[in-house]
Amino acid sequence: MMKVKHRRRAHQHRHGPDSGPDVKMALAGNPNSGKTTVFNAITGAHQHVGNYPGVTVEKKEGGTTFEGTRVHVVDLPGTYSLTAYSLEELVARDHVINDHPDVIVHVVDASNLERNLYLATQFIELGVPTVVALNMYDMAQDRGRQIDIDLLSELMGVPMVPTVGSREEGIAELLRMTIETVREHRTPEKPLRYGRELEAHIEEVRVVLDEAGGLGELPTRWAAIKLLEDDAQVRSLTEDTLDGGKEVLARVERIREHLEEVIGDDAEMALADRRYGFVNGACAEATSSTTRRRIDWSEAIDNVVTSRMLGMPIFLLLMWAMFELVFRLGAPPMEWLTSLFAWVGGHVAGLLPDGPLHSLVVDGVIGGVGGVLVFVPQIMLLFLCISILEDSGYMARAAFVVDKLMHRIGLHGKSFIPMLIGFGCTVPAIMATRTLESRRDRITTMLITPFMSCGARLPVYILLAGAFFSPAMAGKVIFSIYLLGVLVAVLMARLLRSTILQGPTTPFVMELPPYRVPTAKGTLIHMWERGWQYIKKAGTVILAASIIVWALLSYPGPPTDAPTGVGAPPAVTYTAAGRIGKTIEPVMRPLGFNWKVSIALVAGFAAKEIVVSTLGTTYSLGEEDTASGALSAALRNDPELNPLVAYAMMAFVLLYVPCVATVAVTFRETGSWKWPVFMATYTTSVAWIVALIIYQGGSFLGLG
Ligand code: GDP
Ligand code: MG
Repeated sequence: MMKVKHRRRAHQHRHGPDSGPDVKMALAGNPNSGKTTVFNAITGAHQHVGNYPGVTVEKKEGGTTFEGTRVHVVDLPGTYSLTAYSLEELVARDHVINDHPDVIVHVVDASNLERNLYLATQFIELGVPTVVALNMYDMAQDRGRQIDIDLLSELMGVPMVPTVGSREEGIAELLRMTIETVREHRTPEKPLRYGRELEAHIEEVRVVLDEAGGLGELPTRWAAIKLLEDDAQVRSLTEDTLDGGKEVLARVERIREHLEEVIGDDAEMALADRRYGFVNGACAEATSSTTRRRIDWSEAIDNVVTSRMLGMPIFLLLMWAMFELVFRLGAPPMEWLTSLFAWVGGHVAGLLPDGPLHSLVVDGVIGGVGGVLVFVPQIMLLFLCISILEDSGYMARAAFVVDKLMHRIGLHGKSFIPMLIGFGCTVPAIMATRTLESRRDRITTMLITPFMSCGARLPVYILLAGAFFSPAMAGKVIFSIYLLGVLVAVLMARLLRSTILQGPTTPFVMELPPYRVPTAKGTLIHMWERGWQYIKKAGTVILAASIIVWALLSYPGPPTDAPTGVGAPPAVTYTAAGRIGKTIEPVMRPLGFNWKVSIALVAGFAAKEIVVSTLGTTYSLGEEDTASGALSAALRNDPELNPLVAYAMMAFVLLYVPCVATVAVTFRETGSWKWPVFMATYTTSVAWIVALIIYQGGSFLGLG
């Protein structure tokens, strides 16, 4: 390591003796690189926690005096890059550009060098003085990784110091190197080079910017690269601060299009690839491994699992196995639970005298909540499989394998995970979109996830397919509904991404963690956390909704002079729900749905499973009849229903407004009513159109 020259702070009094710190340092790094640990080691107890102005990102500041030099430290948010895609990255970038720290101390996890050093390329590009702390140096050594620090510093053009933050080792050397870097105004030695083609285009943009007067203090080369990446922030800055900014942007746009044509790839991806290539190359030259690492067999598995030939087949096989397992193993406990609730309902019914309370408890509460809880075994099994896939490290590979496909529909590979969870329950699926970095990707994913047919819709399909199709056909019919959901999701994603949610797709920076054998505890915890969301939904939203639906289906009762006997309208026609059903019937008629079906669909907004119990009520059946298959018979005997209407109904139930719990969680996750309201209206419109096409098209062809 370099010898440290001690210089006194004489020439550092920029603002007089006591007017502030001598060195303003900003700590940057990937999440979990040990940034906070290093921050604490530097500042000890002298720290202050606040927020970055105007945003809810935590800002930690602190200070220390080291060998007579006063150092002020800001802990930047943990980031992998400095794009304009996430709030954390923008905050970190703004601090570096606008607050002029004297030096960036970039904390990297030395046991995961390649990935961590990507961020360093961003500081190098900005030309800010940077020192790299090779933190977790102990772990790198434990894994048998030898790092030639001098060579790596030379290759990257920035000084590097090994540290072990958790043991406060190397902190003094880090501070010395940092202070020296500031004293000597040492900026990164080499700019990153992107190869002939990219460089030529960067240069073209740079000239355009220079001619227009430049972007203030921003390095023009950096701004040129960002414009080629179509960076939203630099774009608007260009438009707002330059004379003829629009014209400049149009010229840049032409250069970018030309570049993409020449290289046959997205400019942003190509630039990112070069940076990775640069970092990987530097690491390959300056490091070596003495022991066989665990990574080795991870790599061996990856060579098969993510390969072009076998990646997709393996993925499909695993998905198929998962659904087989869930539905086969889940069926028996589901039947036990169904009998259990029937038994409980029967007992309670015997205890309560006939009347509104009896009806409320038996039909409303036990029927409604029980109808949801019977799916718990299947949902838990699905979440168990998903947790195993995630904890073993395969899920990241699956996202990687489907990434190309997902990009075609304008989404990120990571969107795939929430969509998969959506087959269980949409509520945890919407929450799983949190892993997506770009807000546009995230909202698009939220908006299409409800089309992944959740477990709650299955009883509706089972009822309708069982009633109108032969046992041999029923399974295929239900499967086709699942496929229809995926197809609509794909089409809607494309549509949304090219209209209201237009924007660049985030380049794929997917961490591929080493494979691990998942621990039983971790897997069960993950399964439980997600499954609990579902049970909670049953206990809260669905309980409330069941009571409301029950009330709407019970009141007001028929007038005293209402006709009775065979052929008279059932009591439900007089109730509030009956009236709503009648009111919307004209809208539903073109889809082949009568008022009884319409009421059930309205009630299904509370939870899709309620469609089944409501049909039981509108066809004037008791709870026992619904269970015994009398409902199927009643549906078959209704001259207005036939297989075609049943299929249109299944499609409608699949696509229309997701349950109230989903709408509520969308509100919570997006923080505005705009998106849940949009979700409710557009899904219902799509459902209406698709059901119309099925019913009218089928009738035209003489089906049904
Ligand atoms: P941050 O997300 O970058 O702020 O990371 P933290 O400072 O919270 O550290 C993450 C974990 O790594 C903590 O459990 C630390 O104790 C641990 N850690 C930090 N530095 C080192 C180190 O140099 N070696 C080892 N083995 N662990 C470290
Ligand atoms: Mg931290």
